[in-house]
Amino acid sequence: MFENKDNRTELSELGEFGLIDLIKKNVTIQNQSSLKGIGDDAAVIDSEGKRTVISTDMLMEGIHFDLSYVPLKHLGYKAVAVNLSDIYAMNAEPKQITVSIAISNRFSLEAVEELYSGIFLACKNYKVDLVGGDTTSSKSGLALSITAIGVANDNDLVYRNGAKESNLLVVSGDLGGAYMGLQILEREKQIFVESPKVQPELDGNDYILERQLKPEPRADVYQMLRDLNIKPTAMIDISDGLASEIFHLCSQSGLGIELFEEKIPIDPQTFERAMEFGIDPTVAALSGGEDYELLFAINMADYDKIKNNPLVTVIGHFTPKNNGYYLVAKDGSKHELKAQGWNAFLDKKD
Ligand code: ADP
Ligand code: MG
Repeated sequence: MFENKDNRTELSELGEFGLIDLIKKNVTIQNQSSLKGIGDDAAVIDSEGKRTVISTDMLMEGIHFDLSYVPLKHLGYKAVAVNLSDIYAMNAEPKQITVSIAISNRFSLEAVEELYSGIFLACKNYKVDLVGGDTTSSKSGLALSITAIGVANDNDLVYRNGAKESNLLVVSGDLGGAYMGLQILEREKQIFVESPKVQPELDGNDYILERQLKPEPRADVYQMLRDLNIKPTAMIDISDGLASEIFHLCSQSGLGIELFEEKIPIDPQTFERAMEFGIDPTVAALSGGEDYELLFAINMADYDKIKNNPLVTVIGHFTPKNNGYYLVAKDGSKHELKAQGWNAFLDKKD
């Protein structure tokens, strides 16, 4: 991607302020609450008498992403998406982001533009404004830090600690896809390293590759819950895998869980690839991570409102704390659930 010397503008030609100016020129403000964006010492945001919700994430090249198979545009999109997902997981609405970058001279202006094209696309899709950031140089590689800012009425906010005994455990979308997409990308990278002439075989994996490269935060699920007048009692987004997020909800709410394996939503493509790779699809869902689905607890009384809703699936129910954490397998046998997944398959997590 950076080898295209025909069309390479050094960032040094532009300078930090030139780059910031260019970013600023590409910003179109979409929210009235973004009172002052890029260009002063700080952004000014109108909280509209509501609670402000803030979440930040930092991504380091070589640790969190690998540019040998992640296009910069996707990286920008995903970096925004995962931050917005955290805001929705509070049952709040994201409105603004700030973006901070550290870039080495390996990156040209064109590369930075690619990165920002993904950032801008996510901003447009989710109606958030880029209102600031920071730009600095790095000795090696790229670092990207995004902060998302959202709003909610105080009594709409949902924390991790509010689940109650007998509440239902609900998840949006399907799980394990992002993990299987990563397996495909890593396999193709390995093949490329060994024989660079072989074309990558990505056909038939479009859904799981998209799950890995271009996750979408569940704005639609947030909106659906509002439309149905359901306020979850606890909520979290799935960044580390279903099992780990269940543990967070249970430990913070002081409860146990009974999770039903047959209810865990898994897309057929995820299922097929998992079988090919010799990975139990349930393990991919429990331990894979990066699905960015919403996982939440609701009162039994709300069950009728969502039971036939295609966006969500009821996968279990909360129990008293001393009942522990259990997965009821498809054959009816009970297995203790471990934070990393399912004890029989602990070695599957890297
Ligand atoms: P200061 O030295 O006061 O921190 P900067 O020169 O770093 O100011 O930033 C000037 C303006 O540009 C600020 O509004 C800042 O938020 C914004 N900005 C800087 N870098 C970026 C970036 N990478 N993306 C978006 N906005 C940025
Ligand atoms: Mg600064």
